[in-house]
Amino acid sequence: MKLIFEYDQTPTEHVEQIQTQLDLPIELVRDNLPLPNVNETDIVRHYTKLSKKNFGIDNNLYPLGSCTMKYNPKVSEELARLKGFASIHPHSPAEYSQGALEVIWELQEALKEITGMDDVSLQPAAGSQCELLGIMITKRHFENKNEKRTKVIIPDSSHGTNPASVAMCKLETITVCSDSRGNMDFNEVKKKISPDVALVMVTNPNTLGLYEENLLEIKDLAHENGTLMYCDGANMNALLGISRPKEQGFDMMHLNLHKTFATPHGGGGPGAGALAVSSFLSDYLPVPRITKKDNEFRLDYKKEKSVGRVHSFYGNFGILVRALCYIRIWGNQIRRVSENAVLNANYLFAKIRDSYYVPYDRRCAHEFVVSAKNIPNGRTIDIAKRILDYGFHPPTVYFPLIVEEALMIEPTETESKETLDKYAQVLVKIATELRENPEIVKDAPHTEPSRLDEVKAARQPNLIWSPQ
Ligand SMILES: *Cc1c(COP(=O)(O)O)cnc(C)c1O
Repeated sequence: MKLIFEYDQTPTEHVEQIQTQLDLPIELVRDNLPLPNVNETDIVRHYTKLSKKNFGIDNNLYPLGSCTMKYNPKVSEELARLKGFASIHPHSPAEYSQGALEVIWELQEALKEITGMDDVSLQPAAGSQCELLGIMITKRHFENKNEKRTKVIIPDSSHGTNPASVAMCKLETITVCSDSRGNMDFNEVKKKISPDVALVMVTNPNTLGLYEENLLEIKDLAHENGTLMYCDGANMNALLGISRPKEQGFDMMHLNLHKTFATPHGGGGPGAGALAVSSFLSDYLPVPRITKKDNEFRLDYKKEKSVGRVHSFYGNFGILVRALCYIRIWGNQIRRVSENAVLNANYLFAKIRDSYYVPYDRRCAHEFVVSAKNIPNGRTIDIAKRILDYGFHPPTVYFPLIVEEALMIEPTETESKETLDKYAQVLVKIATELRENPEIVKDAPHTEPSRLDEVKAARQPNLIWSPQ
């Protein structure tokens, strides 16, 4: 595709005129300004073409496992853009920001109900930042009890941010293997728990898309040892309205609002995390706390035990508006979100499971993991590239790390049966192609200019245009 500068390179006649109008200081005046010389029609077409090169949830299914790339309702976008929300200044005093504070407070209340926890902070910008905050709180909790605990137990199926957060807090990760059913191995936890273990971090359902079957036993073991339980709630899309992590024995947990509560991800907007805690950890949450007294909302900065701040002001407020809107759309029917997410995942799983290797033969939660290792030369990367040719986004690949050639698929609840059928058809077809005509898969994608080196593309993106 052409760059906008390549349409017409004749110098713009009015460069001089523009510069005179701008009344620029002499050192900034140029003889030649590389302004594109393109009429409105071509400009609009150029940028429309460019915008179509991107892939988003509004184009097609985007089944990245563990990421919950669900549809973002447009009504939430509209409400977040209301002038009162979009233009409010974070320095407005509480008496002029009652509506905004009420949004935050109501979202906290809703998330308390969903998690069963006693208090919530909406300040963190993401799930990973909640993990960091949770570990900071854990450290402070044990410091106050004069206990020296330096270790955190994490299963080998965990997301990389779990051990990274532990390392950032200068604690030590103890890894526990998964058993043959994909659960955190209870006997290993038993062996590795010791008086210096501060925290057990569990993702439930885990990143294999499986409910942790030994959770209650692990919780009892941890609590008897004085160890806290942290739930990585990135997969809460399987549990909304069905089960509350506090009742499963967790002392704190995070929610990723950009996953479970349908707010934009990444390029579509900043994320937001919610850290929910049991009452005995509440005083450690970041300031300011939003409180309600006699129907008036206030900002409380005077929490002496607080670990401080992890984000400026109140977190990513625009995202909080969207999340509250989403929860309000569902109201007491929110359980249907997870019921449909789990149903959709099991439906898709059933349709493709005979074509791929199934590492853990169990009914899945809201996502599932299969592998291409049963197909001679079956490489997940080739399958992912071939999926692009069929107009879909690939699933998460090569994660979790404990499954060779993993494909981790999360369709989410908002996809129709028709879309799921089409995706299943594509996956089955690619498995057949790999067996009968492997070259077509190995050379994919055929609909894109080339196969990018995805590591380089992410770490050393080449964004500079130079004239040939
Ligand atoms: C996404 C994810 C995280 C990290 O959350 P972010 O909001 O991306 O920082 C942690 N754990 C699991 C299981 C996840 O899927």
